[in-house]
Parts: sequence; C-alpha cells; structure tokens
Amino acid sequence: MKESIYTIPINEAFSSDCHCPLCAIHNKLENDLVEASVGAAMMEPDRRIETNEKGFCKKHIEQMSSKKQVLPLSLVLQTHIRQQIDTIFKMQSKPRMFSKGKKETAQKISQYIDGVKNSCYICSTIETQMQRYAENIIYMWKKDEEFKNKFSKKSFCVNHFKLLLDTAVKDLNENHFNLFFDVLMDNARESYEKSYNDITEFVNSFDYRFKGELSPGTKTATKTVIDKFIY
Ligand SMILES: [Zn+2]
Ligand SMILES: [Zn+2]
Repeated sequence: MKESIYTIPINEAFSSDCHCPLCAIHNKLENDLVEASVGAAMMEPDRRIETNEKGFCKKHIEQMSSKKQVLPLSLVLQTHIRQQIDTIFKMQSKPRMFSKGKKETAQKISQYIDGVKNSCYICSTIETQMQRYAENIIYMWKKDEEFKNKFSKKSFCVNHFKLLLDTAVKDLNENHFNLFFDVLMDNARESYEKSYNDITEFVNSFDYRFKGELSPGTKTATKTVIDKFIY
C-alpha cells in the first residue's frame, strides 16, 4: 500500500495500548499544535495571519500559557487583539442614515464576537487533520489486510466512533461498508458495556456490604468513562 504522511502515525496508534487510537493521534496533534503556536516561528508576523483571524479557545490558550513561552504567547495575543479591536470599532464608525443604525451595529458587533468565541486556530486545524486521519484509516482498512486485522481488535471513544461512522458512510461502497459497520459496532458495544460494568462495580464497591477485590479496570473506571463518553 502506498505510504502517506498519515500511515505511520496511524499504525503507531493502532499498535499502542490506548482506549482509542484516534484519541492518541488527537492528543499528539494537539500537543504539537500548542507547542508550535508558542514556538519561535510565531515571532514572524506572517505566521500569525491565521491565528490573528481565528484566535484560540480558553482550553487551548491555557495549554499555550502552560508552555511558559511568554514572548511568543504575548506576540500572538498582541496582534490577535489588535485585529479584534479594529474590527469592532470599524463597525461603529460606519455611517448610518437612520437612528436604528446603532442597534443594527450592536447586533453586528455581537455576531462578530460570537464568531470569534466559537473559533480557535488549534481546534479548527485539529478538526481538519482528524478528518484526513479518518479518511486514511478507512482507506487502509480497505486496502491493507494487516491493518484490517489490527483494526478488528480496537474500539473507539464515542466521538471518534461517530467520526469513523460518518467517514465510512461517505467513503465506502455498500459491500465494504456493511463489513466495516459490523466490526465497528460489535467492538463498540463490547467496549461501552465493559465501561458501564466497570463504573457500576466501582459505584457498588462503596456499599458497606461490598467485600472482595475490584476487577482490573474498575479503579480507573471514572477516568476511562470521561475519556470515552464526554466529548
Ligand atoms: Zn477517541
Ligand atoms: Zn481550541
């Protein structure tokens, strides 16, 4: 099978022992993007055109702050807020013929702020990249027997289970899709029921009548459930 830049990270994630190979890919991608967003390259104004426009969500700006790269972080923020301030007050200075103009302006400013609030350079880059990864996973599943075998042993968090469903609907023909769907559903059911059983056993262990040992996976059930089901 022809190698792509996605093949190696996919094979690595599917060979590792993690609760969801796509979460493993996502976490690495996210960390690389956070580091790059406060890296030396961001000192160049040209590299900040996209971040000026999109800005960052709270989660990612906090991750960027935790890298302690104060100057690149401040430069990224400096030019991003310049763009926000300019956009907001340019809207105010547009001449209006009628008195209702100011309410209309206020609504436009509010819409612009909503747009910035819902946009993040890191989130949107991850979303595009994860879509490419999912397409490559489906392609590898179709073309590579060894990978198909690896895939059949894996399950995914609900969020990435949905991503694979959507991508397979789009990219596989009926025959391939039917096979893929059965494997994905069987593994998901088994994995999700196990999570339910683990957290139930953990909850029950607080009962004073509980005696004995917790099964493997039960002590970490709460974290696993958060990782798999909260998105
Ligand atoms: Zn996942
Ligand atoms: Zn974000």
